Amino acid sequence: MSVLVIGGGPIGLAAAIEARLAGFSVTVVEPRYLEPGGIDKACGEGLMPGALPLLERLGVHPEGMPLRGVSYRSASRHVDHLFENGDGLGVRRTTLQTALAERAAELGVVTMPGRAHRIEQDDSGVSVTLAAPSGITPDVLRADWVLGCDGLHSVVRREIGLNTAINRTSRARRRFGFRQHFAVAPWSELIEVHWTPSVEAYVTPVSPTVTGIALLGPPGTDFLAEIAKVPELAIRLLGAAPASALRGAGPFHTRARKPSEGRVLLVGDASGYVDAITGEGLRLGFEQARVAVANVTAGTPRGYDSDWRRVTRDFRALTNGLVSVANGPLRSAIVPLAQRLPRVYGSVVERLAR
Ligand SMILES: Cc1cc2nc3c(=O)[nH]c(=O)nc-3n(C[C@H](O)[C@H](O)[C@H](O)COP(=O)(O)OP(=O)(O)OC[C@H]3O[C@@H](n4cnc5c(N)ncnc54)[C@H](O)[C@@H]3O)c2cc1C
Repeated sequence: MSVLVIGGGPIGLAAAIEARLAGFSVTVVEPRYLEPGGIDKACGEGLMPGALPLLERLGVHPEGMPLRGVSYRSASRHVDHLFENGDGLGVRRTTLQTALAERAAELGVVTMPGRAHRIEQDDSGVSVTLAAPSGITPDVLRADWVLGCDGLHSVVRREIGLNTAINRTSRARRRFGFRQHFAVAPWSELIEVHWTPSVEAYVTPVSPTVTGIALLGPPGTDFLAEIAKVPELAIRLLGAAPASALRGAGPFHTRARKPSEGRVLLVGDASGYVDAITGEGLRLGFEQARVAVANVTAGTPRGYDSDWRRVTRDFRALTNGLVSVANGPLRSAIVPLAQRLPRVYGSVVERLAR
């Protein structure tokens, strides 16, 4: 039996490894596959503690910096919570991609350059037509199963008719993510989240000499101008050389009517996403990859829909709640409240850490 994975980002590669370990013959198609140094993308690059066992069971061990907890900060105060059951890991996106790609190759996953364009399925399998065939890759690929792992703006989701409109309120509150690295030694082992009136600035150590900064906020956010408004960050980054290009992604909020249709299962951001505010996209995607392949193996693709809802339930509830508060009049009260209610803050962080 064959599985075709569309999209070779971290979740596509994790899904490919899962499928290979389950005994399928696996092909990944990814337009940026030949990019030197590994595919880069805007990401806060924090692997929550719960993501690490999921990577370990795939045999993937990326190098990174330990993350011991989360610190919410505003101009005048901060509140810290240390993870109670083990550390997370700050991992440069290209390092994670390379570790996953090497493991996939070691297991015999075939990766091809190409961009999925049209998808048609019948009772016995799925045909995927590629846009602008490269000459290296056939024009049409056929497989028993397809895992759509092509990110927020998924072509697979659109092609199988699962795109759904986002309501007007969500559209008005569209949020984007931006990130850049700086040649500065990390100054904390906590993920710092600086709450300003307009953005959240995430600080993640990714190597002994490089620190990543990710901003979440409205479209058109001016990255450097926002950092300059956070005195703690402005001082730390004073004179520091950029260590990567500025990248952006979004809008975050995307939805699928359901996560599968017939022999095509959506996994990772392609299956619907709320926001990066809880720093959970990777853990969640690895978990989705695990249950997607388990259902394909068992021949119960519809079982994926209920498993997907189960593994994403906490994320959806917590993230929707936090985004509503972040977009509303209580925004400036988040850090003071977290400081006044450390046990509530701690239990929220522990939920993210799982
Ligand atoms: C600013 C920011 C900060 C974040 N911080 C964190 C964090 O700290 N921790 C965390 O866990 N998560 C974080 N996230 C979320 C996390 O980055 C995503 O959840 C994760 O990248 C999802 O991976 P994916 O493989 O599903 O999608 P992607 O990483 O988007 O990969 C999709 C892949 O599909 C390919 N593709 C696209 N179209 C096609 C096509 N038609 N055919 C074939 N291939 C295609 C793309 O080239 C790409 O390689 C953050 C996100 C942002 C934007």
